[in-house]
Amino acid sequence: MVKKNFGQNFLTDQHVLDKIVLSADITDEDVIIEIGPGIGTLTQALCKNAHKVIAVEIDKTLIPILEETLVDYHNLQIINEDILKFDFYKIFEQYAGKRFKVVANLPYYITTPIIMGLLERKMPLHNITVMVQKEVGYRMKAMPGSKDYGALSLAIQYYAVPYLVANVPENCFMPRPNVDSAVIQLTLHPAPPVSVSDEAVMFKIIKCAFAQRRKTLVNCLFNTGDFGWSKEQWAQFLKSIGFDERVRGESLTLAQFATITQHFLDVWM
Ligand code: SAM
Repeated sequence: MVKKNFGQNFLTDQHVLDKIVLSADITDEDVIIEIGPGIGTLTQALCKNAHKVIAVEIDKTLIPILEETLVDYHNLQIINEDILKFDFYKIFEQYAGKRFKVVANLPYYITTPIIMGLLERKMPLHNITVMVQKEVGYRMKAMPGSKDYGALSLAIQYYAVPYLVANVPENCFMPRPNVDSAVIQLTLHPAPPVSVSDEAVMFKIIKCAFAQRRKTLVNCLFNTGDFGWSKEQWAQFLKSIGFDERVRGESLTLAQFATITQHFLDVWM
């Protein structure tokens, strides 16, 4: 019995499964953490290539099915747990020296908390290859000026390089989801591409900038009231560091947000 509340849409298309495994570039040096193995189709393909597969599934009714169908794979560990509570660091310690990757056909109801949790905790992952809702995938890889560009694009691109592996239509799943999907690969940066002395402040500025998309950055920053500056102060500040006071967040790159943040921190602190 498929559980909709767990986002269960099982991938049935062999071509897409092959694409995920191929793009994740799995070798016998890799320890793969699979989020939500479901009935194990992707898991099986992963087990054929990886040193070890740790498959974390919340639905306890799927565990006996996984154990039975994947009994021949001795490099598989099935864990019945909520991924949002899972202790990844136990795995990193146990397999120290190996390369870690996350591969998943994600449950869409928790895509952002899962991915941002992996990135913000700066986990030692080489890459993350995941099926997500198409719109979310496009937002992750969007660049300034595009309608998909926003706080999620900047957060993802601060930690990783996103790459669209494939668009996946509804008919590749059972049951069919009512949205299109995409496989996205995030290759983690060894160090962030920009440097600021307080990244939380940068993400606060970014969040403000996109909270009211059609407003100028000055209006957005003033309207939050969080920083205690008047509109005139924000306009003067932006001009003093070489930005047009009518600039909008949607046209600013990550490097420009970092520049604004660092100058702001220098005068504000
Ligand atoms: N990997 C399978 C496939 O490709 O066919 C299933 C993918 S299905 C979209 C998402 C899977 O994640 C389901 O098996 C679901 O039970 C599981 N899941 C949902 N929430 C979860 C959570 N918080 N922790 C771990 N697994 C979860």
